Amino acid sequence: MKNIVVLGGGISGYGSAILAKKKGFGVFLSDAGKIADRFRSKLDEWEVPYEEGGHTEERILAATEVVKSPGIPDTAPIVRRIREAGIPVISEMEFAGRYMGRAKCICITGSNGKTTTTSIIYKILRDAGYNVALGGNIGESFAYSVATGSYDWYVLELSSFQLDGMYRFRAHIGVLMNITPDHLDRYDHCFQNYVDAKMRITQNMTSRDWFVYSGDDEVIWQQLPKYDFRMRQLPFAARNAVASGAGDAFLCDGVFTATAGKASVEIDTSKLQIKGLHNAYNAMAAALAALAAGVAPAQIRRSLYDFAPVEHRLEPVLEKDGVLWINDSKATNVDSVYYALESMTRPVVWIAGGTDKGNDYEPLKAFAREKVHTLVCMGVDNAKLVREFTGVVPEVVSTASLDDALKACKAAARAGDAVLLSPACASFDLFKNYENRGELFKEWVRNNA
Ligand code: ADP
Repeated sequence: MKNIVVLGGGISGYGSAILAKKKGFGVFLSDAGKIADRFRSKLDEWEVPYEEGGHTEERILAATEVVKSPGIPDTAPIVRRIREAGIPVISEMEFAGRYMGRAKCICITGSNGKTTTTSIIYKILRDAGYNVALGGNIGESFAYSVATGSYDWYVLELSSFQLDGMYRFRAHIGVLMNITPDHLDRYDHCFQNYVDAKMRITQNMTSRDWFVYSGDDEVIWQQLPKYDFRMRQLPFAARNAVASGAGDAFLCDGVFTATAGKASVEIDTSKLQIKGLHNAYNAMAAALAALAAGVAPAQIRRSLYDFAPVEHRLEPVLEKDGVLWINDSKATNVDSVYYALESMTRPVVWIAGGTDKGNDYEPLKAFAREKVHTLVCMGVDNAKLVREFTGVVPEVVSTASLDDALKACKAAARAGDAVLLSPACASFDLFKNYENRGELFKEWVRNNA
């Protein structure tokens, strides 16, 4: 009998364990840390044996296959041991993809814009009456949906870590938003390793499949000649002229037309509730994917205009005394802040800082010079940010708590300004995660702004 060991008891892990159980395999879940109560009760409910607070090596090495949660790095000693023993290590997507039957999947990856684009595509398909589940890095896990539901479509947000453990999995519609440096700590500080991981979105695609990608992204462009693609290609762009026999989307004067095969939809981006060039890219990608999935153009247009910003992504919180407070806590890398600053139409008080992932701040300096009058650094160690932006931005303030940072913002902001939380860094020095950072920001703003 197949003996599946699942490493990690988070949302992806318990879903995989339940799917393994449902398929009648031997299953054991192991987590080096604590498993959250809600996941533990699911495991109990499904009678899945598990351990927490450490790994029992003999039990793990008895596996025929290991499903590894994306949060566990390859450098973890237990993963090394498993590989040395020659046991295949796969991701949740690879595992669950085997049991999705005739259903089709739309998979979205990229350095930025995944959650927004995934949410838009899911909304379009759901509004159109498709029998569709949402999964991957967002919502319920893919494996859990496969185990407990019966869907015709899956819309999956894929991180590079999930793609790393995918071998035979095939996306029917693959969407690649962009590739900019992120998570290099998990890729031996080698950008190409990360690029290769992202390009795995295209693996196994056939001539019946569709590949939606940014035609403005230089990194993606450089990769294309290395591959002998068979699938239909749907590039989207606002700068480079792109054209593909299968279809494309191009933004010009605030309007884009997306075409896939014979179907076409025209979108006026000024009517979208999500703002900025980056969101126009997200909308173009979503429109192309939805056309490829066969959704009627009028339906796509309705759902796109109806789509509201996702929490923590350029989310307007409150306007008080003429100052607009914006929560972009999810901006944990330089590129996402680039687009946040790009989309600002008011003078900006900008809050940045946290755990720096080896950031190069150069790309932000032109917008910072043009739009930001005060930078409030919020982190345990602000030295690098202060050094990089002194002389670029008129005022740079260093703070080490949310309360001090927001008091400084309130003092600096004038009527007509925006206060933008868009940190370019991870949140782990002062907060549990980016959601916690965004929620505390909103709470402070509602009570004290
Ligand atoms: P991801 O899931 O890839 O992290 P999100 O949709 O959650 O992407 O957005 C993350 C951050 O990146 C937010 O700050 C958002 O404003 C910004 N962003 C969204 N879409 C794009 C894009 N296409 N290009 C660059 N930045 C983006």
